[in-house]
Amino acid sequence: MPDVRVRFLDLPAQYATLADEMRAAVDEVFGTQAFILGARVAGFEAALARYLGAAAVVGVASGTDALYLALRAADIGVGDAVLTTPFSFVSTATQIARAGARPYFADIEPASFNLDPVAVRRWLAACRRDGDTLHAPGGERVRAILPVHLFGRMCDVDTLAALAADAALEVVEDAAQAIGARSADGRAAGAMTRFGCLSFYPTKNLGGAGDGGAVICARQTDAATVRTIARQGADGGPYRHVLLGLASRLDALQAAVLAVKLPRLDEWNAARRRHAARYEELIAATFGVDRPVWTPGLVAAHVYHQYVVRVPDRDRVRAGLAADGIETQVYYPIPLHLQPCFANLGYKPGDLPEAERASREALALPLYPELPEDAPAAVVAALARALGRIAPR
Ligand SMILES: *Cc1c(COP(=O)(O)O)cnc(C)c1O
Repeated sequence: MPDVRVRFLDLPAQYATLADEMRAAVDEVFGTQAFILGARVAGFEAALARYLGAAAVVGVASGTDALYLALRAADIGVGDAVLTTPFSFVSTATQIARAGARPYFADIEPASFNLDPVAVRRWLAACRRDGDTLHAPGGERVRAILPVHLFGRMCDVDTLAALAADAALEVVEDAAQAIGARSADGRAAGAMTRFGCLSFYPTKNLGGAGDGGAVICARQTDAATVRTIARQGADGGPYRHVLLGLASRLDALQAAVLAVKLPRLDEWNAARRRHAARYEELIAATFGVDRPVWTPGLVAAHVYHQYVVRVPDRDRVRAGLAADGIETQVYYPIPLHLQPCFANLGYKPGDLPEAERASREALALPLYPELPEDAPAAVVAALARALGRIAPR
């Protein structure tokens, strides 16, 4: 293999800028030996709630658990159906099943990779209405829509929320990839509906030193329910358990690390946007109007967790880039409705053509705040070579 010229991600580069502060924060936690909950976690939850403009934030063990806990707090379970996107990380849909409900999928909008409100409307219209209850094709009671702000681009939450309100459904936002993204009127991804979910997986825009996540709540009462379920269903009475719960908490060590990083998030997201703008410019200049490379464009409500383009013959192009020392990734090669773990749902190839096409065409190029300034030019030149076009000098 050739030497890597442009890494897909470089977490040590970010750590180098904060190592002293992060180590001091971690040392303080070790000094107190208070690893579970406590002031560090409460302080970070409050800071994050302020940053998001949310009523409350509950730190939990992962983004996956955040999804599960939000669904449980919305009282979604056995006999229920939740409509989501087929083009996302797997836990978006697995957590619906873990809560006991059945996931259904509606197709995505090709230009944003996000759940298509038109497809959602069509799916809801095909459900059987019985008084206030909407029945999914399998007979389950439809309870919620679970959209994802994929790759850091906000989905059309307001249109989805209006469709949901019409049918008395909840909206749970999966904002794991979009922390810091804001709508034109300043509302934060994840804080636009009753529940939002975040992940602090190390590669996310706000990444911890291990697993972590959060549920964003618009109501204090919901936050209390999430806390109860996440803490073994205990309601405060000594060893009294009112709900079937689990142990899902944000570690104090993670809260300490994240509290150091949160004040930098906007600056990092701005750097991501700057690199995305550079890619847009270079790709337009290199390929001209009839270009074979589709790009996401420079979108206001986008924090470019990933910079995902579409190319023909994606796997060959990706191999060409690798041969040129450019690391890339594919998100996601198999849409959720065709994942083996969901075979029981009965979907088949061709059911959701836009998600399937995205899984064949999408290619994520290197983009992170500390990306070297000359990297986009090297990546785009290599992309031109891989596509069999000569890049201009
Ligand atoms: C990362 C991610 C999750 C899961 O978060 P974890 O912290 O890894 O459990 C869920 N949904 C999306 C869209 C994600 O990108």
